[in-house]
Amino acid sequence: MAVIHVLDKHTAELIAAGEVVERPASVVKELLENAIDAGASQITVTIESGGVKLIEISDNGSGIEAEYIPTAFIRHATSKIRTEDDLNHIHTLGFRGEALASIASVARVEVLTRTENDECASVYRIEGGEDYPLEPGARGVGTTIRVQDLFYNTPARMKFLKKDSSEGTFVADIVAHVALSHPEVSFKFVREGKLQYVTPGDGKLRSAAYAVLGREFSRDLMELDNQEGVYRVWGLITQPRSCRASRSMQYFYINGRYVRNRTMMAAMETAFKGTTMQGKFPGGILLLEMPADLVDVNVHPAKTEVRFARENDIFDLVYHAVKLALAQPGTGERRFAFEEN
Ligand code: ADP
Ligand code: MG
Repeated sequence: MAVIHVLDKHTAELIAAGEVVERPASVVKELLENAIDAGASQITVTIESGGVKLIEISDNGSGIEAEYIPTAFIRHATSKIRTEDDLNHIHTLGFRGEALASIASVARVEVLTRTENDECASVYRIEGGEDYPLEPGARGVGTTIRVQDLFYNTPARMKFLKKDSSEGTFVADIVAHVALSHPEVSFKFVREGKLQYVTPGDGKLRSAAYAVLGREFSRDLMELDNQEGVYRVWGLITQPRSCRASRSMQYFYINGRYVRNRTMMAAMETAFKGTTMQGKFPGGILLLEMPADLVDVNVHPAKTEVRFARENDIFDLVYHAVKLALAQPGTGERRFAFEEN
């Protein structure tokens, strides 16, 4: 007869961590979300060896109070929600209290953090789930998290990583997605010792796009902004003549959260039908704002999939907004000359 037993804590932890941390890019996504939730206006991301050797994210957000630092690394420990009811209206990017616990179980982590109430900063080290006593450190208000040697204790996971340059490209893609979703935050991205960009953090989507996606792509983007009932969609889309052979330039967000969403994609592409050649895809940055209780973000541990209460509303909203933008006189010519700043 088969013996059924409950897995030991460490093994269970590794299984749970696997759902959140698939590769360096997933670590970067979670840490960036934490920095944004902490109210940072400046965030620096540094990676070495595609993020496998080092991911360092530094922010000027609220910091973590010394007494709570070890708690933050316990699974399901969060400052963002309290009750079941809170799950119905989530206003932060994080809420599952899983990221720090997951990351710390599969890497060597060091946190340096300070709140405005602390006289000095604290350093906390946790490696493969084993932690060390807090030590005093030095920094201004905010948090720096260093994640080293990802998957050093889980060789099975390590084997599935691609080569460093590919992992670095996944990270770059995530940083780009997050930076575009928060133009009010200045993001600095350093990859393998080379500065990639700094977004100005001036609150303008166009300036963030210019920094992240480059001049060539950004200068032809058309503005779009449409409100229907409780929904608003706004952002920038490509001109029909700038459509590309891939979907790599499609960026979708819901309430400031980067998502992969078929409904928004289908609505945008349907609206472009007839204006572009077959096999060409529009690009764009579409930000959807809607009541938090009409979208379920608690569908998957990585939180990039969402479910809408009223799917059709979303399709119609995005479709009409894109149609309207495309119908503007002058579309096809260089209508919005990009102002350099
Ligand atoms: P979640 O984001 O879902 O709450 P995490 O495991 O990502 O869970 O983080 C746990 C807690 O640690 C957060 O709720 C927050 O209070 C704190 N925290 C994490 N990162 C930061 C940060 N960069 N600045 C301030 N607090 C942070
Ligand atoms: Mg989080």
